[in-house]
Amino acid sequence: MPTGSCLCKNLQYEYTGEGHVIICHCLPCRRLSGSAFSTNILLPRSSFHLTSGTPKTISRPGDSGLDVTLNFCPECGHTIFVTGEGAGLRGSVVVKAGTLDDPELLDKLIPAEEIYTEHKVSWMQTERKVKRPGENSGPMGAVLAATLMLLG
Ligand SMILES: [Zn+2]
Ligand SMILES: [Zn+2]
Repeated sequence: MPTGSCLCKNLQYEYTGEGHVIICHCLPCRRLSGSAFSTNILLPRSSFHLTSGTPKTISRPGDSGLDVTLNFCPECGHTIFVTGEGAGLRGSVVVKAGTLDDPELLDKLIPAEEIYTEHKVSWMQTERKVKRPGENSGPMGAVLAATLMLLG
């Protein structure tokens, strides 16, 4: 079962299942990650369990106008997952993929989607299939659309 933790290991989690891996190029993710993009694992909330620590949270409206909540360690400040009240995020957890404990696991988690590619830095080359908000009409599309601009 995959496990993960914040930088200081005060917060620890585990989850079941595969998840849906999404690279996000939105500007808030850039700021949050301190990097050019974020890598996220979208999971049903029921398959994600904190095994140590209690996160602090901060909420702000996402693109939907409904709250997106960052869950971060009160000790080290590291955001390890995101939840939200928008239609697609409700019932889901977005785990920051770099928090996985097994460094080899991330190598096996091939991203299924890239979003907010209009903000993708020019030097980042990938050949992933790109989907944009609204292109999907099914449930995953709704999830993606609500996941976008996590901090919007
Ligand atoms: Zn911590
Ligand atoms: Zn983002």
